[in-house]
Order: sequence, then C-alpha cells, then structure tokens
Amino acid sequence: MASECVVVTGGAGFVGSHLCEALVREGRRVIAVDNFVTGRPENVAHLAGQPDFTLLEHDICEPLTLETDVGLVFHLASPASPVDFTRLPLEIMRANSQGTWNAITLALEKGARFLLASTSEVYGDPLEHPQRETYWGHVNPIGPRSVYDEAKRFAEALTTAFRRFRGLNSAIARIFNTYGPRMRLDDGRVVQKFIRQALCGDPVTVFGDGSQTRSFCYVEDLVKGLIALADSDQPGPINLGNPEEKTIADLARLIIRLTDSRSSITLGPKPPDDPQRRKPDISLARDLLQWEPETSLESGLTRTIDSMRRGLADK
Ligand code: NAD
Ligand code: UDP
Repeated sequence: MASECVVVTGGAGFVGSHLCEALVREGRRVIAVDNFVTGRPENVAHLAGQPDFTLLEHDICEPLTLETDVGLVFHLASPASPVDFTRLPLEIMRANSQGTWNAITLALEKGARFLLASTSEVYGDPLEHPQRETYWGHVNPIGPRSVYDEAKRFAEALTTAFRRFRGLNSAIARIFNTYGPRMRLDDGRVVQKFIRQALCGDPVTVFGDGSQTRSFCYVEDLVKGLIALADSDQPGPINLGNPEEKTIADLARLIIRLTDSRSSITLGPKPPDDPQRRKPDISLARDLLQWEPETSLESGLTRTIDSMRRGLADK
C-alpha cells in the first residue's frame, strides 16, 4: 500500500491543490493530473520539488495510462464556478462525463478506490431544507446551471453504475460551497469576489435582495472530510460542508467589516435558477466518518483575506 500512488485529477485547482498538499504531508505519493483550464501550476509550485509529488499536464477527457501502482483516484477535474457555466459549458459536461469515465477506467485497471467530487448542486434549488443525501433534488435540466448540475448528476449515476455492475470500489462526496486561499482572483464565486471588491474599495455586488443563503466551508476542513471518506469503505453519497448558514447580504457586511473596507453594497439582478437556500445536513459525515468542520466563518474568512491581500500586493 505504501508504494501505491494517489491520483488527483484537477490537482492544480483550488480544492485539488490543498488536497495534494495534505496527502503529501501525510507521506503519500501523489500524481496531480490537470489541463490548467481553470487551475494553475503555481497552485502546487511549492510541492513541485518534492520526490513524492508529480504534476502531469493531461486532459482527463482523453484516456490516462500510468505505469505506476495506484491505490486511490480522486476525481476533481471540472470547472466549478457559475461564471464558467457560460464560459466553459461543454468543457464542464465533458469533464464530468467522458472525464469521469476515464478516471473510473484508470481506477478499475489499477484496482484502486475511486472518489467522485460531486456537489450540492445535485439538489438544485432545493425544496427540502437542510439538504439530506436522501433528497433527489429540484433541478432544471435545460436551465443555465444545467451544464454543471446535470453533468454532476450524470457523474454520480455513472459512478453508481460502475459500482453496481463492474465492482468499482467507489465513494461520492457531495461538496457544499467551499472557500479559502488559492481561488483565482477572477474565479467569480461569491467569497472571492466580495473580498476582492472590498479590498479594492469597489462596490460589493449583491445579487437579488441578498436574502438567499449559502453555508460556507473552509477548504482545510473540506480536505479532511475528503480524505476521511476516501480512507473509509463508505460508498456515499455523503454531504461535506459547513452547516453554518448565512444570507448573502450578511456575508457582504461581514466581509466589509473584516477587510475594514469603505465599500458600499449595490443590488443587482438575481441570476435565473439561483438556489434560494442551501445548508447541508452532515449527520452522515458525523456518524460514518467522525468528521465535522472546525473552522468558523470569521476565522476562515480572515485567513482568506490575508492571503488575498498578499496576492493583490504582488500584482
Ligand atoms: P477549480 O476550477 O479551482 O479546480 C478544477 C480543476 O480541474 C482545475 O485545476 C482545472 O484546470 C482542472 N480541470 C478541469 N477540467 C479538466 C480536464 N478536462 N482535465 C484535467 N483537468 C481539468 O475548482 P474547485 O473549486 O477546486 O473544484 C474542484 C472540484 O470540486 C470540482 O469537481 C467541483 O465541481 C467540486 N466542487 C467544488 C466546490 C467548491 O465550492 N469549491 C463545491 C462543490 C463541488
Ligand atoms: N452572488 C452575489 N454577488 C456576486 C456573486 C454571487 O450576490 O457578485 C450570490 C449568487 O447569486 C448566489 C451566491 O452568491 O446566490 C453564491 O454564488 P456562487 O457563485 O459563489 O456559488 P453558487 O452557490 O451559486 O454555485
């Protein structure tokens, strides 16, 4: 087992880079596979010199063959920001369909466990609150978010079919909104965007009346949950997220306070199909993985703000 590698597709992305870092810290050999469509080699530059880490430039929509033994495949490769739903719609659909197929094929060939990074978006604009894994979701299959939501639902179905009919040792993680250092400055997701706006003194752009909610998880907490799930024998799906729910208007005010900014808040139109409420029920993760997030929103935001301040100062 010690000589077996862990493959992380999307390993040069936001979550992937933190995951690779944690795995290397635990003494595992890691191969990060990425085509850099939304990730960057700089995200893992600090790991590049280490003998246990390899960064492979590869599009997971093409078959992947590796000479080495592999014990675990994490499949994270997929753009994930709503701004990418119009910028990279077909790339998202391919990464989650053909890309998932190829990542599963690699896992089966190697006899490895496979973990799919799915999403709370499979619940769509949920009619059940908080969301439990038993909820089937409320998704518009032809709406502007469908390229992502339905692609992830397909990826879950594909993983389940390979488990049921081909004996794949699989796990599905349903990840809720996660934030932290290393998200792209132009990523477009709300935490990063509000912090950038506040640090630059620009208006903070709340969509709708700001009453919609999200529950934000700090990336280091999420990574611990992903590793706990991978190291268990649980198939999932299991929600991984922080149940601390916040309105977007409150998030804007909090970020303005924590950045000591003079930014004002402006209201703009709410995007179509934007989920109104989102909060994970994490009972399963607590019971089966003994996992729960440890970082409060204020403390995680403070760390993210510090890191973004340094990034902006370097520009
Ligand atoms: P990200 O865009 O920072 O990372 C995705 C990575 O995948 C990037 O490095 C990108 O270059 C790579 N990639 C995309 N298509 C690829 C392909 N065809 N071949 C190889 N590499 C490819 O996004 P993230 O926030 O780190 O998300 C990582 C995973 O976690 C995604 O699958 C996403 O759906 C899932 N997820 C993230 C969140 C979140 O809040 N961050 C929430 C739910 C689910
Ligand atoms: N949002 C906002 N202003 C922005 C960007 C996002 O009010 O400039 C809102 C968005 O409408 C949504 C929430 O913040 O209700 C979270 O958006 P994000 O794009 O981070 O991810 P989502 O959870 O929608 O996938």
